[in-house]
Amino acid sequence: MILRLLVAAIALSTLTTATGQPPPYIFVLGVGQDASFPQAGCYEPRCLLAWEDTSLRQEPTAIAVIDGASESSYLFEATPEFRDQLYRLHQEASLPLAGIFLTHAHIGHYTGLMHLGREAMGTQGMPVYAMPRMLEFLSGNGPWSQLVSLGNINLKRLEHNTPILLGKLSITPFLVPHRDEYSETVGYRIEGPNRTALFIPDINKWEEWEVSIVEVLEAVNYALIDASFFADGELGNRDMSQIPHPFVSETMALFEQSSAEVRDKIWFIHMNQSNPLLNPNSDATRLVQDRGFNVAREGIRLPL
Ligand SMILES: [Zn+2]
Ligand SMILES: [Zn+2]
Repeated sequence: MILRLLVAAIALSTLTTATGQPPPYIFVLGVGQDASFPQAGCYEPRCLLAWEDTSLRQEPTAIAVIDGASESSYLFEATPEFRDQLYRLHQEASLPLAGIFLTHAHIGHYTGLMHLGREAMGTQGMPVYAMPRMLEFLSGNGPWSQLVSLGNINLKRLEHNTPILLGKLSITPFLVPHRDEYSETVGYRIEGPNRTALFIPDINKWEEWEVSIVEVLEAVNYALIDASFFADGELGNRDMSQIPHPFVSETMALFEQSSAEVRDKIWFIHMNQSNPLLNPNSDATRLVQDRGFNVAREGIRLPL
């Protein structure tokens, strides 16, 4: 872990853009599933440990892109832990927050927007980038609609496979299959001057996507991808076919024939509290790393 952070820090310090500015980078702010760890009402022994020892807790998945050259930072996802994540972003780089990109309308991914409203920050015109159904959901339902009517947020419409250019960054949303009760779901392609990342925190089984994740990986440098569950059966008696995320075991199998270089692009993220990868010292974490994959942790930096 420390070694990986060190490697990332060195990589960051040795890359520069043509203008001599340090390149933008991804800063990981949370790696858990929507409901954090421990989840409300969990009093199993491992949850009790985390209720007592706050250092064991995990926040829902969010990443920031920090771009010193344009003196801007961007958030991907507004999670229920928005307050804490915004503070850690401020500690890392106290640059103005220039926009928030949302993937979909499940609780871990957008409810942090409430902190932009009149009871809290009361922002003026914070750009919030989202797809058409997601925008409709926000502007048509309280309390989110109040953020729109008071001008706290400024909704920016995204389109499938259409890039948004922000300084040296290019951000492209793409539709992915997921439980779309209130909104469509997207992943993002985040392209910097040197490197490109994929961010897909929630998706159904890989075979339900019209795109081959193995092929997509060829064209990017990092892929932060859905690792909600490690393997079948980890929710006890609960029928896991109702929540058809790709298991980490399945994703690893898919890349079994890939080169070590390709496997090293993968960063597992969005881990449910049942996933042993949340624990950096678990056998599962060791296994995943021995096979050449990475597990995302808070504080990881990936240069773009
Ligand atoms: Zn989620
Ligand atoms: Zn979801």
